Amino acid sequence: MEKILVTKSSMPEFEEYIEEIRDLWDTHWLTNMGEKHKRLEHKLEEFLGINHVMLYTNGHLALENAIAACNLPKGGEVITTPFTFASTTHAIVRNGLVPVFCDINQDDYTIDVSKVEDLITDRTVAIVPVHVYGNMCNVEEIERIAHRYGLKVVYDAAHAFAVTYKGKSSALFGDASIYSFHATKVFNTIEGGAVCYNNDEWTQFLYDNKNFGIRNEEEISYVGGNAKMSEFQAAMGLCNLSHLKDEIAKRKSVVEHYRQRLSGVEGIKLLKEQKNIESNYAYFPVVFENYKYTRNEVHTHLLDDGISARKYFYPLTNAFDCYKNYPTAGVEKTPVAQHIALRVLTLPLYADLSVNDVDRICDVILK
Ligand SMILES: *Cc1c(COP(=O)(O)O)cnc(C)c1O
Repeated sequence: MEKILVTKSSMPEFEEYIEEIRDLWDTHWLTNMGEKHKRLEHKLEEFLGINHVMLYTNGHLALENAIAACNLPKGGEVITTPFTFASTTHAIVRNGLVPVFCDINQDDYTIDVSKVEDLITDRTVAIVPVHVYGNMCNVEEIERIAHRYGLKVVYDAAHAFAVTYKGKSSALFGDASIYSFHATKVFNTIEGGAVCYNNDEWTQFLYDNKNFGIRNEEEISYVGGNAKMSEFQAAMGLCNLSHLKDEIAKRKSVVEHYRQRLSGVEGIKLLKEQKNIESNYAYFPVVFENYKYTRNEVHTHLLDDGISARKYFYPLTNAFDCYKNYPTAGVEKTPVAQHIALRVLTLPLYADLSVNDVDRICDVILK
């Protein structure tokens, strides 16, 4: 049997990419904010309907720098969720801030906004919520809380590129939203990421941090790092962006087929479709709750059949070894997140996944 991987990166036709990078052999301009970098930033600003997109070499550095741009006092508390990729919590901690873990909703696995205010203390400085699987957080309630308590909000929107709420892009909420354009994401630049923001005053800081604080040949005015996106990455982005609509439509039809096969099955819980949200169909998570097999058993059955599914997100970030001495860590503080993390499996999903393959996957799960 042919193997089915959990994902398969979107790529343009070979010739299309070659055409896009051909002129790099004339210019020899491979990185340092070249023409393709500029063009991709502009196209993304247009696509997302936002004033500023700052490209980065990956989503994690975009997030670290977006949090840094909030200029928060060291040791300040940041309310976030543990049902996420390592990057979110690491970005908070690497900024000298303390993650305070809020539980998630049963239905869409985003931050449970009814529990946020209980976690606010006089040390709370920001909220870093995570959009999950192509679903979005309750952005209106988060905005209300942030406004009431004077908190900054940076969304980890790595899963929510091209997702809209009431027709508005996910890029437009909070002080900033960051995207990851990693190879496994709905839209990829091989490795890549971006900070989306509206505050003009952030531009210099975000730019300095990705280019050593170099203002011009003779003036280095800030102790910045290096996080530039190369021309080859930007070229992949330009190609992939032109096919994004088709890719999302194909993902949608894969998801619809999964739903047909798996909805209404006793013990299998599917992701709830959110009102007013146009999803990007980034992932297809299935939660096994009192199903005839446990999540781990299904995972193994699938592997035995050459199919890789992913325990995603598991473990929770507040269970990581590296946080075991943190007073705010511990999965018992976020029981819903722990419940889901122990039972969830994201099934293979990519634009070109065939109906036959979806059937093969569902047959294994249901047999
Ligand atoms: C992928 C991802 C990131 C990190 O993005 P990279 O581009 O891999 O650095 C951050 N947060 C979440 C939720 C992600 O899924």
